[in-house]
Amino acid sequence: MRKKIVAGNWKMNLTVQEGLQLSAEIADFVKNNPLEKLNGNPAVIMFTPFTHVYSVSDSVKGLKGLSTGAQNCHTEEKGAFTGETSVSMIKSAGALNVLVGHSERRAYFGETNEVLARKVKAAMDAGLTPMYCCGEVLEERNASNHFEVVKEQLEKGLFWLSAEEFAKVVIAYEPVWAIGTGVTASPGQAQEMHAYIRGLIKDKYNNEVAENTSILYGGSCNAKNAAELFANKDVDGGLIGGASLKAEDFCTIIQSF
Ligand code: PEP
Repeated sequence: MRKKIVAGNWKMNLTVQEGLQLSAEIADFVKNNPLEKLNGNPAVIMFTPFTHVYSVSDSVKGLKGLSTGAQNCHTEEKGAFTGETSVSMIKSAGALNVLVGHSERRAYFGETNEVLARKVKAAMDAGLTPMYCCGEVLEERNASNHFEVVKEQLEKGLFWLSAEEFAKVVIAYEPVWAIGTGVTASPGQAQEMHAYIRGLIKDKYNNEVAENTSILYGGSCNAKNAAELFANKDVDGGLIGGASLKAEDFCTIIQSF
């Protein structure tokens, strides 16, 4: 059965000390509200800046269902890539997950679907769970190209995986026009795209793989609108930016299934 997931993307926010404070508040919540007893038994992930991964991972070690991730990784294992971070470094710092292809990486750092496919491979080889982000910009939606854009992102970034490999991937659908804008996709728009993505997975692999894939929604999801988004049958949780920086809001979202 597919997993419900709430993941926080801290982006380039918070000092290490502030991050530890936030993760301590989230950990306290999880201690007092074991995730397996909450509606949907959600898994919770904190995607922190690289500098925070080790200390935040260490601080939540042993808490069931709560894990950490990095927001990016390099395609190569090691070498002369000044400023970059490899998957084995991320893993050795205690993270279990890595974001691949966030729209900010695509837009500001020129990450193409082809490069992202190599990042997915690197993550899988290291035993990290890649959370692969896809989503269209506003012009593409206005031109009714959003399905084609997402299809291409999935085909090039992920659909070269075997069914067995694909089963380890999590997908986040994040319409770029909704990220950090306060404009959220309507529950209907989210469900429509999630069902479309699940259909693509079914066509490429099979029904079982499609039904077992977690597809998260991201884009101005917050404590107020999470419940109506998560109520959709193909929305398995959320990737949360701004609202993941406040423990109270993030914990409300965790309880929104
Ligand atoms: C994100 O960065 O993945 C995101 C969804 O951001 P926000 O929730 O702030 O729109």
